[in-house]
Amino acid sequence: MLFRYSRDKRGKPVRKAIVYTKDEHKIPREKIDRDAFYIVEHLRNCGCDAYIVGGAVRDLIVGKSPKDFDIVTDATPSRIKKLFRNSRIIGKRFRLVHVFFGEKIFEVSTFRSICEGSVGNSFGTMDEDVQRRDFTLNALYYDPIKEYVIDYVGGVEDIRKKVVKPVIPLDRIFVDDPVRMLRAVKFASTLGFKMPHALKHKIRKCSPLLSPISPSRLTEEMLKIINSGHSYEIIAEAMEMDLYMYLQPIASQMIFDDKKFEASYMEHLKELDALVREHKDARLGKKLAFLIYDFITTLTDWKQEVLTKSAAGELYTKTWSECRHFVLPINPQRTELEYAIKDVLLKLGVGVRIPKKITKNAVATKPGFNKNPQKAAQ
Ligand code: ATP
Ligand code: MG
Repeated sequence: MLFRYSRDKRGKPVRKAIVYTKDEHKIPREKIDRDAFYIVEHLRNCGCDAYIVGGAVRDLIVGKSPKDFDIVTDATPSRIKKLFRNSRIIGKRFRLVHVFFGEKIFEVSTFRSICEGSVGNSFGTMDEDVQRRDFTLNALYYDPIKEYVIDYVGGVEDIRKKVVKPVIPLDRIFVDDPVRMLRAVKFASTLGFKMPHALKHKIRKCSPLLSPISPSRLTEEMLKIINSGHSYEIIAEAMEMDLYMYLQPIASQMIFDDKKFEASYMEHLKELDALVREHKDARLGKKLAFLIYDFITTLTDWKQEVLTKSAAGELYTKTWSECRHFVLPINPQRTELEYAIKDVLLKLGVGVRIPKKITKNAVATKPGFNKNPQKAAQ
């Protein structure tokens, strides 16, 4: 075990971080994405500091394959952009760089300072950057060249103890960014980690802070949950923490009111997770179908419904707008929600034709019901 020092105001060396060597952290080098390695190496060769950071380091330590590799550096976004031809600066306020390698996108960000608390955008040092990372398990820096893990906050120990511990003080973490509550629940549930009592208590108390969060950010978080393969555990915990009512208010109310609805909704989440684990790239519509299935069954008695051609169009329109409303505030792509509705209706024995090309202003009155679902499915 090594240590990283910095100097205090008087120039005296102060121990800042533990440095774990490869025998200690045991991250296999071959698990590091080659392009992520190249980005770090290139930045270093150009005189910059650079590390792999965040979720990838966490996942490598617990033995999971990271879904993406984020990189952090002391180079500014414009410098990064100049160093990589295949890159683009994104974000107006929080500027970072996307570096493209074929289909893969790497997020390269610049160390942030803490002069404006844990959400400001001014650039800073690595010592400051670590203080703005949400949880200790996400605040580890990996140097793929020396194969060191740099740990300022006891993240390696917390991962070993399977605990989600905040880096940012509890009285600021969720006030500064309420989405961190959803992140805490997501990490605890997917990794099987515990949240300390004080953290759970804080989340329950702060849950209403999620109410003004923009639909686009909530949609982003909800899509991560849907795609995680652990939606059952995450959503069960989010309900427990009073958070789900901000992601899916109507579903939460129905779950609260009706035990049968709850049981079936949760069962469908398990089915969604099985699908995601087997077919990672299944289209979103296919996954959304599991979230809206139980709701659609409450809309009418589908078995009894007599589907005359004209009534079918009306019924479809109604189903579509009810579902649109049901999933609010999340706002999935229209074509995907249409696909999901069609999928559910097919499962209920009702075939429906969806126009292949749906324009922005198209009203959902066009599709008609088809009494031969097999045919409609083709
Ligand atoms: P995932 O596996 O879902 O990608 P992640 O931890 O990598 O999880 P990202 O959204 O990719 O999540 O963020 C990368 C890193 O940036 C995090 O590990 C964390 O250090 C930091 N981070 C992201 N969002 C926040 C936030 N809201 N507050 C503080 N730090 C954050
Ligand atoms: Mg990540």
